[in-house]
Amino acid sequence: MTTDEDRPLLSLVVPMYNEEDGLDAFFARIFRAVEHLPARVEIVCVDDGSADGTLGALRKHREKNAAVKVVALSRNFGKDIALTAGLDHAAGDAVVPLDADLQDPPEVVADLFAKWREGYEVVEARRATRGGDSFTKRKTAGWFYRIFNLLSNQPIPENVGDFRLMDRKVAEAVRRMPEANRFMKGLFAWVGFRRTTVEYNRGDRTEGTTKWNYWKLFNFAVDGIVAFSSLPLRIWSYIGFAVSGFSFLYGSFLILRTLLLGRDVPGYASIMTVMLFLGGIQLISLGVIGEYIGRIHEEVKRRPLYIVREKHGV
Ligand code: UDP
Ligand code: MG
Repeated sequence: MTTDEDRPLLSLVVPMYNEEDGLDAFFARIFRAVEHLPARVEIVCVDDGSADGTLGALRKHREKNAAVKVVALSRNFGKDIALTAGLDHAAGDAVVPLDADLQDPPEVVADLFAKWREGYEVVEARRATRGGDSFTKRKTAGWFYRIFNLLSNQPIPENVGDFRLMDRKVAEAVRRMPEANRFMKGLFAWVGFRRTTVEYNRGDRTEGTTKWNYWKLFNFAVDGIVAFSSLPLRIWSYIGFAVSGFSFLYGSFLILRTLLLGRDVPGYASIMTVMLFLGGIQLISLGVIGEYIGRIHEEVKRRPLYIVREKHGV
């Protein structure tokens, strides 16, 4: 006979920022989704410095149900850091990051769990549909994956978010990565392990609104690419060589022509064009170098990734 203690512990890690309105529905649905799993379940909720009553509501849920664990951060650190804090406090044999807005359907956790039991160490949940996402968001997301995978040596699978199951080993490997720039999808892909996918239909956000806008998404994409590729740096050497080679040829042509045909004065247009073009190229390359130096600056400060205000049950 198996006792309760023999069952594996499943940790659901949920970053929450201003999710008070949806919390009751969230817990109701999640407990229903996991009640028949052959596992003990803990829900590690990370309050990412919410300005609404999320933390108070979490404390109440914890009083009712000890499976709810709470980590509250001292301010809003952003989803990736909140998720990192959650992983640090998750004790499970398997760990599943999950959004609080029910866009990652809790029912899928059972499918992920079943695959894990078959021996896979990472089970990714792939969105078969991107419910609620506009045409432009789907298109730009598609471009992002294409560019990222072209530039990075470590490809990330398309349409897979943070929603996935990780074996304890995998979660520990992700935790060991000390960098401050935490592009989680990239880190998850980087650690490797035996992986498989489960498909699901992504629903709409049930309560509240998304915290993303296009400017944030653009910066997120830049962060991800800069963290996983140095090609944008190296490309300037290639461009430099090409431009120098071309300048050498063109210069030789100009000198020869002057020697053979004598001096001619006009040339304002060509000089301006070349100057502006090179000026532009230099500024772009400086900007790219600046991106990387900025990241170095972030990393060498070695600040803790997050500050905990209070913990309950972890
Ligand atoms: N989130 C967070 N900190 C933030 C922004 C978001 O912890 O600064 C949480 C949020 O509460 C939700 C998850 O991250 O549980 C996904 O956020 P959202 O639904 O806004 O993103 P989207 O689904 O649009 O990508
Ligand atoms: Mg969402």
